[in-house]
Amino acid sequence: MSDEAKILVCQAANADLTVLGSTFTRQCSACSTRVMVAPSGERLLEREPNILVLCTLCAEARLIKRLEAGEEFSVAPAASPAELAREMTRAVPNANATFCPHITGKRGRN
Ligand SMILES: [Zn+2]
Repeated sequence: MSDEAKILVCQAANADLTVLGSTFTRQCSACSTRVMVAPSGERLLEREPNILVLCTLCAEARLIKRLEAGEEFSVAPAASPAELAREMTRAVPNANATFCPHITGKRGRN
């Protein structure tokens, strides 16, 4: 393994869906956007506090830069596939979403 910093890719805190138990207090290390971290991600950060938290946009930009530079990198999930699948079944509408489906639904009615 290289000594390169690991990255945890996180959805922005105002994404449409979230997972029960997610936190909304962390920020992207690159652009300071508030992100949400699912329970699996929080457990990973507890085990490895030096992991870099990045929002999806910054993570994508970083990966593209590495691809163009011909650098090698690997992508690993934050938790086992079974754990992530279990987490996905607990996805719920995000109360922090910028466009809450309840509000837009009401607006369409009026
Ligand atoms: Zn960012």
